[in-house]
Amino acid sequence: MKYHAWFACTTEGCSETYPLNEVIYKCRKCGKDDKRSGLLEVRHDLGALRESRSPDQWKKLFDRRYLRNLYPYGSGVWGKKEWVCPNVTNENVVSIFEGGSNCFWAERFGKEIGLNDLWIKLCGNSHSGSFKDLGMTVLVSMVNQMIHEGTNLRAVVCASTGDTSASLAAYCATAGIPAVVILPKDRVSIPQLIQPIANGALTLALDTDFDGCMKIVTQISRDKRYYIANSFNSLRLEGQKTISIELSQQFDWEPVDWVIVPGGNLGNVSAIGKGFLMMKDLGLIDHLPRLVCAQAHNANPLFRLFQQGLPEGEFRPQKAKPTLANAIQIGDPVNLNKALRTLKKIPGGLVEECTENELANAAAWVDRFGLFNCPHTAVALSALLKLVNRGEIKSTDRVIVISTASGLKFPDFKIGYHTRQLTGVAPRHANEFLPLPPKFENVMDALEEHVGK
Ligand SMILES: *Cc1c(COP(=O)(O)O)cnc(C)c1O
Ligand SMILES: [Zn+2]
Repeated sequence: MKYHAWFACTTEGCSETYPLNEVIYKCRKCGKDDKRSGLLEVRHDLGALRESRSPDQWKKLFDRRYLRNLYPYGSGVWGKKEWVCPNVTNENVVSIFEGGSNCFWAERFGKEIGLNDLWIKLCGNSHSGSFKDLGMTVLVSMVNQMIHEGTNLRAVVCASTGDTSASLAAYCATAGIPAVVILPKDRVSIPQLIQPIANGALTLALDTDFDGCMKIVTQISRDKRYYIANSFNSLRLEGQKTISIELSQQFDWEPVDWVIVPGGNLGNVSAIGKGFLMMKDLGLIDHLPRLVCAQAHNANPLFRLFQQGLPEGEFRPQKAKPTLANAIQIGDPVNLNKALRTLKKIPGGLVEECTENELANAAAWVDRFGLFNCPHTAVALSALLKLVNRGEIKSTDRVIVISTASGLKFPDFKIGYHTRQLTGVAPRHANEFLPLPPKFENVMDALEEHVGK
């Protein structure tokens, strides 16, 4: 095989490596009972990638494949296969043409806040409605490959706050692999709950929170017949990494100044950073953007650490409080160390936070400019507003906000806002619907009151 990737232990000084088709999530030497020790990451043979094609040839190859229908290369993830997971054969790839999401020039909203070059990358405009599809295609493809190689795997299992489970169920159903999803009862939205049910996953709703579900999944993970799809599994991060490659491609490989992404378990901020670093390493770009990780105040462990100057080894897990941004309600993020390393490697990285009131109003305000934001994207938008107000982001800077899920997954958030029923939120952009008798006069009165006579 020309290109090659493997798992490597992320502990300083440890040089253990493992094949990607082994059922393993932690280094056998460094992994302990706590959730962060001995985590693995995927590493690539960068020498082979550098020698086989020049930066220009890689760009041309990626561009030639982009959004075409040659399976699996038309996928935004698999079009970069050599950089993502070269170890999977094309026959074993499980793709539903994820990626290729639109990057929306928020021209009118940008003007409103004094920015000329503001973009929102709609990564949630994806098969299961969130950007989790980008990583899930890689993980389920590797599972499919292992099954074809004769590994005894019975099912893929995950705990989820709603998006991972929807994505896992969709990819497993595509491949005909059994999926088991473990959700905190009554804490995921109806669309998020119905997705794995519709795709035929065994859907278990437990009377606990996400961390409670995760504890049980950790126990299941000791049985190697079950493959775990949570984000301590670093295969997923390779797919998420393509966010940076794809957005650079969408700008014809021109420099980007800022990338803002919401963070919970912190896999994505790490993966996005990894994508930019890899492109710089291989000569596709020569400028790294400043990365901003945005958190909800109610679940802000990285923000707190950032305020102390990101000291090593000072981390104290917190009990996350409920937030409308339920996918990032995480007080003890598994990928903390990866995120810290990324923020240290890329100059100018920042962490921001926002209240429930700020995020709900940010979502509704930007919706008025044609978007339909999910609460997590709203956390990133709140961070954007703060950085603009503080003068850190300049009017000519090219800024990309990563939109992580479709607003359609969160009807309660939208309806609750516009009917003024969200606790802790004072709506500034509520737009209540008006029930009327079915009479022409009533309709005209309402219409003229709205637009003027
Ligand atoms: C998973 C998720 C996030 C957070 O990603 P992490 O890698 O856990 O930080 C943000 N938004 C949405 C919609 C998600 O599903
Ligand atoms: Zn190790």
